[in-house]
Amino acid sequence: MSALLEGGCACGQIRYECTAEPLFTAHCHCRDCQQASGGGMATVSGVPSAAFRVTKGTPKSFHYAGNSGKGLDRNFCPNCGARLYTNNLGALPDVTFIAVGSLDDSSKVNPTMHIFTASAQPWDKITDGLPQYPGMPG
Ligand SMILES: [Zn+2]
Ligand SMILES: [Zn+2]
Repeated sequence: MSALLEGGCACGQIRYECTAEPLFTAHCHCRDCQQASGGGMATVSGVPSAAFRVTKGTPKSFHYAGNSGKGLDRNFCPNCGARLYTNNLGALPDVTFIAVGSLDDSSKVNPTMHIFTASAQPWDKITDGLPQYPGMPG
Protein backbone atom coordinates (compact mmCIF):
# COMPACT_ATOMS: atom_id res chain seq x y z
CA MET A 1 0.00 0.00 0.00
CA SER A 2 1.22 3.47 -0.74
CA ALA A 3 1.39 6.12 1.91
CA LEU A 4 -1.55 8.46 2.20
CA LEU A 5 0.18 10.66 4.71
CA GLU A 6 3.85 11.46 4.99
CA GLY A 7 5.66 13.69 7.36
CA GLY A 8 8.71 14.28 9.46
CA CYS A 9 10.58 16.65 11.67
CA ALA A 10 12.03 20.07 10.88
CA CYS A 11 15.61 18.91 10.24
CA GLY A 12 14.77 15.81 8.18
CA GLN A 13 16.35 13.26 10.53
CA ILE A 14 13.00 11.58 11.25
CA ARG A 15 10.46 10.60 8.59
CA TYR A 16 7.19 8.67 8.89
CA GLU A 17 4.31 7.51 6.73
CA CYS A 18 0.75 6.33 7.20
CA THR A 19 -1.26 4.15 4.84
CA ALA A 20 -4.69 4.90 6.34
CA GLU A 21 -6.94 7.93 6.48
CA PRO A 22 -7.17 9.62 9.88
CA LEU A 23 -9.87 8.23 12.14
CA PHE A 24 -10.46 11.75 13.44
CA THR A 25 -8.72 15.07 13.76
CA ALA A 26 -9.07 17.25 16.82
CA HIS A 27 -7.78 20.43 18.33
CA CYS A 28 -6.35 19.25 21.65
CA HIS A 29 -6.14 21.64 24.58
CA CYS A 30 -4.50 19.23 27.05
CA ARG A 31 -1.59 20.44 29.15
CA ASP A 32 0.92 18.31 27.28
CA CYS A 33 -0.11 19.83 23.95
CA GLN A 34 0.28 23.27 25.50
CA GLN A 35 3.71 22.47 26.92
CA ALA A 36 4.97 20.62 23.85
CA SER A 37 3.69 23.13 21.30
CA GLY A 38 4.38 26.24 23.30
CA GLY A 39 0.91 27.50 22.42
CA GLY A 40 -2.70 27.14 23.50
CA MET A 41 -3.37 23.84 21.80
CA ALA A 42 -2.19 21.42 19.15
CA THR A 43 -4.04 19.80 16.28
CA VAL A 44 -3.70 16.02 16.12
CA SER A 45 -4.93 13.32 13.74
CA GLY A 46 -5.63 9.89 15.18
CA VAL A 47 -4.57 7.11 12.78
CA PRO A 48 -4.53 3.31 13.21
CA SER A 49 -1.16 2.44 14.72
CA ALA A 50 -0.93 -0.59 12.41
CA ALA A 51 -0.90 1.76 9.40
CA PHE A 52 1.75 4.07 10.83
CA ARG A 53 5.48 3.56 10.68
CA VAL A 54 8.67 5.53 11.07
CA THR A 55 10.65 5.24 7.84
CA LYS A 56 13.81 7.15 8.79
CA GLY A 57 15.62 7.79 12.06
CA THR A 58 14.67 7.05 15.64
CA PRO A 59 12.51 9.51 17.54
CA LYS A 60 13.06 10.18 21.20
CA SER A 61 10.13 9.44 23.50
CA PHE A 62 8.96 11.43 26.47
CA HIS A 63 6.77 9.34 28.75
CA TYR A 64 4.22 11.06 30.92
CA ALA A 65 1.28 10.06 33.08
CA GLY A 66 -2.25 10.26 31.74
CA ASN A 67 -5.60 9.63 33.32
CA SER A 68 -5.83 6.01 32.22
CA GLY A 69 -2.86 4.65 34.13
CA LYS A 70 -0.34 3.45 31.57
CA GLY A 71 0.59 6.90 30.41
CA LEU A 72 1.52 8.33 27.06
CA ASP A 73 4.66 8.55 24.94
CA ARG A 74 5.22 11.77 23.04
CA ASN A 75 7.73 11.22 20.25
CA PHE A 76 9.93 13.96 18.90
CA CYS A 77 13.16 14.47 16.95
CA PRO A 78 16.20 14.32 19.26
CA ASN A 79 18.03 16.74 16.97
CA CYS A 80 15.55 19.53 16.16
CA GLY A 81 12.95 18.88 18.87
CA ALA A 82 10.00 18.86 16.48
CA ARG A 83 6.98 17.08 17.88
CA LEU A 84 5.87 14.14 15.71
CA TYR A 85 3.33 11.78 17.29
CA THR A 86 1.98 10.50 20.58
CA ASN A 87 0.91 7.02 21.67
CA ASN A 88 -1.66 6.67 24.42
CA LEU A 89 -0.65 3.37 26.00
CA GLY A 90 -3.65 3.04 28.27
CA ALA A 91 -6.81 4.48 26.78
CA LEU A 92 -6.19 4.11 23.04
CA PRO A 93 -3.24 1.75 22.47
CA ASP A 94 -4.14 1.10 18.81
CA VAL A 95 -4.25 4.77 17.79
CA THR A 96 -1.28 6.97 16.95
CA PHE A 97 -1.84 10.69 17.34
CA ILE A 98 0.06 12.55 14.63
CA ALA A 99 0.86 16.18 15.33
CA VAL A 100 -0.50 17.59 12.07
CA GLY A 101 2.13 20.30 11.84
CA SER A 102 4.65 17.53 11.13
CA LEU A 103 2.81 16.41 7.98
CA ASP A 104 4.37 17.38 4.67
CA ASP A 105 0.96 18.76 3.69
CA SER A 106 -1.45 19.48 6.51
CA SER A 107 -3.79 21.58 4.36
CA LYS A 108 -6.23 18.70 3.92
CA VAL A 109 -6.69 17.71 7.55
CA ASN A 110 -10.23 18.24 8.76
CA PRO A 111 -10.56 18.99 12.47
CA THR A 112 -14.05 18.14 13.69
CA MET A 113 -13.83 18.80 17.43
CA HIS A 114 -12.01 20.32 20.38
CA ILE A 115 -10.84 17.92 23.07
CA PHE A 116 -9.54 18.45 26.61
CA THR A 117 -11.24 21.82 26.73
CA ALA A 118 -11.27 21.48 30.53
CA SER A 119 -7.66 22.66 30.40
CA ALA A 120 -8.16 25.21 27.61
CA GLN A 121 -6.73 28.60 28.42
CA PRO A 122 -9.22 31.44 28.95
CA TRP A 123 -7.61 33.50 26.19
CA ASP A 124 -7.83 30.63 23.71
CA LYS A 125 -11.28 31.51 22.38
CA ILE A 126 -13.04 28.70 20.55
CA THR A 127 -15.17 30.38 17.91
CA ASP A 128 -15.40 27.81 15.11
CA GLY A 129 -18.60 26.15 16.36
CA LEU A 130 -17.07 22.66 16.47
CA PRO A 131 -18.15 20.33 19.31
CA GLN A 132 -16.18 20.66 22.51
CA TYR A 133 -15.32 17.85 24.91
CA PRO A 134 -13.77 18.40 28.36
CA GLY A 135 -11.55 15.30 27.89
CA MET A 136 -11.55 12.59 25.25
CA PRO A 137 -15.00 12.20 23.68
CA GLY A 138 -17.01 9.32 25.17
ZN1 LIG B 1 14.65 16.81 13.33
ZN1 LIG C 1 -3.22 17.07 23.77
